[in-house]
Amino acid sequence: MREKLYRFMQGRYGNDQLNRFLLVIMLICVVLSMLVSNLFYFAGVAILIIMYVRMLSKNRYKRASENEVYLRIVNKLRFFIERQKNRMLQRKTHHIYTCPTCKQKIRIPRGKGKIAVRCPKCGTEFIKHS
Ligand SMILES: [Zn+2]
Repeated sequence: MREKLYRFMQGRYGNDQLNRFLLVIMLICVVLSMLVSNLFYFAGVAILIIMYVRMLSKNRYKRASENEVYLRIVNKLRFFIERQKNRMLQRKTHHIYTCPTCKQKIRIPRGKGKIAVRCPKCGTEFIKHS
């Protein structure tokens, strides 16, 4: 039996990060189907089918590139969230101004009163209240 399973799985793609993510979404769908609407049940079943199709697929190259796309999106999202978090933290101590000429973001400490800001990129000067 084990031997059979092994032979069946040979050359097949198996699990990856994208499938693990789909599993989480599927479980959320299952919970939502009980709480909200059983439309989520069908979404969950659809996701389960996609997961199995991907796992048992013999086109490893295509599955791997799908996973790569997924990982790239996750990385971008992580980067974006990290940047927003940093900006929120900096907002307490700094103002972020945008240069009117070149749109460069310039960070100025708060509480300095009226100041002339000089863009380090293009040299434009503008007056701001920090
Ligand atoms: Zn500028």
